[in-house]
Amino acid sequence: MQRVNRSSRQLPLFPAAIERSFELLPSLGEQGDIRYFATRARSVMNAPEATGMNFWSINPYVGCAFGCTYCYARYAHRYVMERAADRDRLDDGLAAEFETMEPWLAFERRIFVKRDAPEILARALRTGGERYLGLIHGDTILIGSATDPYQPAERRFRVTRGILEVLAEHPGLKIVIITKSPLITRDVDLLGRIARHSDLRVQISLITVDRELARRVEPRSPTPHARLVALARLRDAGIETGVNCMPILPGITDEPAALDELVRQVSAAGATRIGACALRLDRSARLRYLPFIEQEFPELASRYKASYSHGRNVGEKYREGLTQRFNALRAKYGIGDGDRA
Ligand code: SF4
Repeated sequence: MQRVNRSSRQLPLFPAAIERSFELLPSLGEQGDIRYFATRARSVMNAPEATGMNFWSINPYVGCAFGCTYCYARYAHRYVMERAADRDRLDDGLAAEFETMEPWLAFERRIFVKRDAPEILARALRTGGERYLGLIHGDTILIGSATDPYQPAERRFRVTRGILEVLAEHPGLKIVIITKSPLITRDVDLLGRIARHSDLRVQISLITVDRELARRVEPRSPTPHARLVALARLRDAGIETGVNCMPILPGITDEPAALDELVRQVSAAGATRIGACALRLDRSARLRYLPFIEQEFPELASRYKASYSHGRNVGEKYREGLTQRFNALRAKYGIGDGDRA
């Protein structure tokens, strides 16, 4: 395995929010080729002013075993690893991996679990005072902005469920959960309880209904069919559920007939909204995604290099075309616009 140059560290996007979150990394065990480590969270909800986003965010885990090739969240994991290494908080095995394992792979195989997050959140909401006033004035809490809250770790550690149990005690909140996992249906009772007195929405991430294509670009994620079944089940339970068709991968998932079929199927499954946007390539995503394109879709390599040569966004004309296409598909299948958080 290639040796990683630690001097080429990237600047973290949310340094303050992440820095506060960790003290120790005791091992919690293994599951196949994935290893879990506990973190001690001091703060669970990242405020809008800390992240520069217009919502509060909660991420029960750092890292994500679903391993989507385009994932933009890898920066956070690398930052946690670097800080832990600097403070000698990695065990010998993990310290060796920090030196040798590619950061994009560590993101998928070394997962940090915020086990005490529910307790910290309960305390914050009970005693937080003015800091959290925005939450009763309509600020959104987004669960899963930089990890999947229902990845395989959740089956074992139940951190997301613990967080939802805390939020269920506080009426009048606005909560959005983003996931690719049918495991969310395990919590349908709790989601129903929250939805009775808060504004709750689940967003299922789905960029293609082609099982084989999904396996190539999201190698460890649940199948599209499993996600559609979960979507229908949530809707049957009365949970408002939409779809994030994000990111659309140029030349791979943007074929008009394929997008039409995707919107048709999510509409048939009961989705109330669908949001879409084209792939953005920040540095950490670029380091994983562009080599993947070279290997799996070599015919697209030069197109990607040209399209993303000037920054993280594909050209405005392409994005405008997508907007028009999705507006037409929403009208055709009677489904709303998904952008809210
Ligand atoms: S499910 Fe989301 S957080 Fe997890 S790897 Fe895929 S894009 Fe990243």
